[in-house]
Amino acid sequence: MKTADIAQRYLSYFEKNEHTIVPSASLVSDDPTVMFTIAGMVPFIPYLTGVVPAPYSRAADVQKCIRTNDIEEVGKTVRHGTFFQMLGNWSFGDYFKEGAITYAWELLTTSEADGGLGFQEKDFWVTVYETDDEAADIWRRVIGLPEERIQRLGRADNYWHTGQPGPGGPDSEIFFDRGAEFGRDGGPAADDNRYMELWNLVFMQELLSDVRSQVDFDIAGPLPKKNIDTGMGLERVALLKQGVANMYETDQIRPVLDRAVELSGKRYGAVHEDDVRFRVIADHVRSSLMLLSDGVKPSNEGRGYVLRRLMRRTVRAMRLLGVDAPVFPELFATSRDAMKSAYPVLETDWTRLSGLAVAEEETFLRTLAQGSTILDLALADTKKAGKQTLAGPEAFLLHDTYGFPIDLTLEIAEEAGLNVDRTAFDTLMQEQRTRAKADAKSRKRQLADVSVYRDFRALGETGFAGYTDLDIESRVL
Ligand code: ATP
Ligand code: MG
Ligand code: MG
Ligand code: MG
Repeated sequence: MKTADIAQRYLSYFEKNEHTIVPSASLVSDDPTVMFTIAGMVPFIPYLTGVVPAPYSRAADVQKCIRTNDIEEVGKTVRHGTFFQMLGNWSFGDYFKEGAITYAWELLTTSEADGGLGFQEKDFWVTVYETDDEAADIWRRVIGLPEERIQRLGRADNYWHTGQPGPGGPDSEIFFDRGAEFGRDGGPAADDNRYMELWNLVFMQELLSDVRSQVDFDIAGPLPKKNIDTGMGLERVALLKQGVANMYETDQIRPVLDRAVELSGKRYGAVHEDDVRFRVIADHVRSSLMLLSDGVKPSNEGRGYVLRRLMRRTVRAMRLLGVDAPVFPELFATSRDAMKSAYPVLETDWTRLSGLAVAEEETFLRTLAQGSTILDLALADTKKAGKQTLAGPEAFLLHDTYGFPIDLTLEIAEEAGLNVDRTAFDTLMQEQRTRAKADAKSRKRQLADVSVYRDFRALGETGFAGYTDLDIESRVL
């Protein structure tokens, strides 16, 4: 089953059940103080909070998402992309827990011939919020799931919010057991690699006034209506339906991975570190393409900086695979071809998109050349002074001012027989990170009043964008 077919099947199922199908909102909004759409619910916040009356009581969609805080997982787990598509169904004051659970279960377990996704009941486990007897009871009594496959977890796992003031609620999550060869027995509470999270059913029922962390927040009171917000990762369903090892090997991503393998002259599946790099490249190229398509341009701040880092990480990974020549023309065109049936704009806007991608790669290749010259001089000076170690501030300057990656500095220094003062470098990085965090906090504060959420969905094609972790700025390279 192709990724596009799964999306279509999902929408058809909910359309049949009286849901209005709505198009994906943009990955970014017009509001510069917020970063990206991190989940399907973000464009619906005005309806969930009741600030704007929902124009329909049921909706379903496939929402484009970017999650930069998953970047360290990409290529290492089977299931985390920086870009992914979230299948969602929504009830605004209509059905609640029992409706959400029974719809999800029916779609997952109905045979493919009858329009479902054709999964086996025995492969699923679920979690519910620790005090949510109602949801546990629905799973047991209405669905008939055995007691031992219903687990109860706390706020860290079974409470959903965006990380900022706004709507939130306890949730119930559906996990797929990939089998004993992928990890320990004991359900999702024991092993989230073997038991892969597939679908999150959020019972949106309260307004959060202050959010200090995932588990530490204040509940201001109940929402005017009880709503349903669900999210299922399209790529995760695809990896299961296509019988591949991970999401990077599904049909919308794999072609880029294969092209990177060809360009490198290496083999996928031979060396673990190389395999991770191939998966990172395939993920980042797609994310970059989708961000460019939604109007982001590489730059040194905000969203543009995130995009720049994704693109530069791609170039860096290709170099570590032995390719120094430009690769974006090939890789971006491959990603376009894999994604264009779902997003035709990738083809119609191609001249602009490829122009931006190619220019960014050229700039970075120049940066690398310039940084290498500066580093060579610094290394020669260090040696001349009879020292064994390149000073931390020199490495930091290369990183901070010239965008020259620290791992490259370490590698080249080592080839020259020198160390790098990593402790001093890390201290400087930490200081920079603290500055970035303070900056992010002051931006977040501007969003404290949920009444500022505008109704982008009603206004047209752009969408409200959630805020994600700015730490990416210091972690990516
Ligand atoms: P995980 O625990 O696996 O990181 P999550 O709990 O962070 O997932 P949710 O915020 O509950 O994810 O999002 C709803 C659904 O979206 C998930 O159940 C999953 O199917 C999908 N999803 C979340 N993050 C990603 C990602 N980075 N890449 C692909 N799919 C994702
Ligand atoms: Mg996650
Ligand atoms: Mg989770
Ligand atoms: Mg979840």
